[in-house]
Amino acid sequence: MKVRTVEFVGALAHPGGPRPGGALPEIAFSGRSNVGKSTLINRLLGRTRTPVARVSGTPGKTREVNFYRVDAIPFGEGEPIEFFLVDLPGYGYARVPKSMQGAWRPLVEDYLVGSAALRGVVQLIDARHAPTGDDQQMMEYLAGLGTPTLVVLTKVDKLKRSQRDRRIRSTVSELGLGMEQIVPFSAPTGEGRDELLRALESLLLPTR
Ligand code: GDP
Repeated sequence: MKVRTVEFVGALAHPGGPRPGGALPEIAFSGRSNVGKSTLINRLLGRTRTPVARVSGTPGKTREVNFYRVDAIPFGEGEPIEFFLVDLPGYGYARVPKSMQGAWRPLVEDYLVGSAALRGVVQLIDARHAPTGDDQQMMEYLAGLGTPTLVVLTKVDKLKRSQRDRRIRSTVSELGLGMEQIVPFSAPTGEGRDELLRALESLLLPTR
């Protein structure tokens, strides 16, 4: 799909708190702090000059579940696609006080469990490193919910071709993925952007 407009609509700040949104499908983005999630969201939405997601100098700062309403048109024929892109708070940042780390889980679980309209989760993993224990736990939790999950390997521009092919293969085997579930991505080169937009389109329009 091609993104036409994006608008921040609000945030879920506390478990059980008021939830922005409405009757639209949702796609959530998850990953540890500093994995490149804000950068990817801005790149994906074509908002690098006027970012919607804040690329933070202070990793671990985003602690709310942020909702963006996106209006897009499919790559092929068809009606416009409207959905909420949901930016989950990053996890696993050591300098966040323990009390905050403790607040992360109930908030994210409240969102994930309470989202009837959730069509899929995009799990980001830094291409330079093996999935962390937190990444693995998140994947297991998502598998338990039965939510379709795509894995994006971020910052692939930082790897040589051979390293990155190895990393793709090892991530697929460590996380038990199908090759169609993994997308290598680079914000500076734009690699993976169309592939990810296509994958999101098919999650949002499952019958086509
Ligand atoms: P977040 O905490 O997951 O939202 O991560 P950010 O989007 O704030 O990115 C963290 C850092 O990684 C920033 O310095 C970004 O410029 C950098 N970064 C993000 N994506 C890429 C990428 O695809 N390639 C490279 N080389 N750097 C990236």
